[in-house]
Amino acid sequence: MSRHTLVNEFMNRVETHSPNQTEFHQAVRHVAQDVITIEKAHSGYTAAKVLDRLAEPDRVIGFRVVWQDDAGETQVNRGWRVQYSDAIGPYKGGLRFHPTVSPSILKFLGFEQVFKNALTGLPLGGGKGGADFDPTGRSDAEIMRFCHAFMCQLAPFIGPDRDVPAGDINVGTREIGWLFAAYKAHALEFTGALTGKGASFGGSQIRTEATGYGLIYFVQAMLAEQGADLAGKRVAISGKGNVATHAAEKAVEAGAHVITLSDTSGTLVAEDGIDAATIAWVRARKQAGEDISHPPEDTKARYVAGAMPWEQDVDIALPCATQNELDKDMAKALVDQGTQIVAEGANMPLTSDAIDIIANGGLLHAPGKAANAGGVAVSGLEMSQNSHRRYATAEEVDADLKQIMKRIHARAADEGRSGNRIDYSKGANIAAFRTVADAIAAMGAI
Ligand code: NDP
Repeated sequence: MSRHTLVNEFMNRVETHSPNQTEFHQAVRHVAQDVITIEKAHSGYTAAKVLDRLAEPDRVIGFRVVWQDDAGETQVNRGWRVQYSDAIGPYKGGLRFHPTVSPSILKFLGFEQVFKNALTGLPLGGGKGGADFDPTGRSDAEIMRFCHAFMCQLAPFIGPDRDVPAGDINVGTREIGWLFAAYKAHALEFTGALTGKGASFGGSQIRTEATGYGLIYFVQAMLAEQGADLAGKRVAISGKGNVATHAAEKAVEAGAHVITLSDTSGTLVAEDGIDAATIAWVRARKQAGEDISHPPEDTKARYVAGAMPWEQDVDIALPCATQNELDKDMAKALVDQGTQIVAEGANMPLTSDAIDIIANGGLLHAPGKAANAGGVAVSGLEMSQNSHRRYATAEEVDADLKQIMKRIHARAADEGRSGNRIDYSKGANIAAFRTVADAIAAMGAI
């Protein structure tokens, strides 16, 4: 049977079991296309039905979150935790607060997280969670009350050896502090049941910076493979959040010209590169919940309402905002202007059509599960530090992060090499699948 037929048969089963979950189907199909023949060629994987098992999370926990706003009005939201797979370690993955959060989004993110975590080489299973809560326009006190109410519901299901959530969109160090306090009050223990904590109460150095920095370390490894480096390269970055601004900071440090940062309403463009002070200004605006439409007068960056970063002439594109943000027209624009590398800071930022256009256009494409694994990798280091009750310095964590990103690059490159081309997406999927499949097959039918 051809690979195409095998994938279609498999996806028919997935789509029947989980109807109307388009983002989840998209993520599963990408992985199945790369690994289905690996499963069929291995009698242990086939007998264990590894892919069918991985298309179904271990469990999805759903709950109501009730809290009071500043006007004293009762508010009701929905929260979830997808405990996707603990085959190689405790469930691990972020919490997202956003009105678009749904079981489909969280299942796709949890599925991706399983593979990403396996690539790090650390003992981390995969999970994801969040709520349909929109913090935009909410006061600090309202967000704190929401975090406490959310954790009241989630706390019985997590713990340092069971499930260790972290932050994601709209859940930063501040929210993790509030969530951790509520967890601690429930568990009556001080344990590392969340990562991304503040440094004064068990957080790791460099966790905040890790995803963005790790993305740049991954791109540096891709360039080193070609005998090149980042100095002088023109880089487009989307987003203005945690991943985008830390990637921008590290890229500038490495001598690259960061041409853009963006948000949902427009793009900040500087033909000669956005400087470190302007990146810091963007981060402060994001933290204050404000837009970037009026850059400081002493910066060369200008704001273009409604524009996309991908209209710029760049060597490297780093989508760092959200899923499906880069579509086929934007992918065509990148191909036409001769962009060489697309590396994903966000999770699944490219639509399926965009991925095909990028691949057919000969660009190197680093998937998020490899390129943005730096955040979860440092979360894994935070878990170890919490267990040991010994804390590493920023320099030590950064050195470990660099090594982990190099190792992820090497694993993805080894599995994805064909002649002098590297298919990083395929390589990452196969390398991660082998790790998880070996564990699942070893554990029998349970
Ligand atoms: P943040 O909430 O810090 O920032 C996200 C930013 O993206 C917001 O500023 C938002 O703009 C912007 N944005 C959203 N949609 C669009 C769009 N269509 N076009 C342009 N900008 C947009 O999130 P993070 O930086 O933490 O996460 C970004 C991505 O990286 C997500 O996919 C996340 O899952 C992934 N990721 C994050 C990790 C982490 O450690 N934080 C780890 C691994 C992956 P606005 O302000 O206008 O809403």
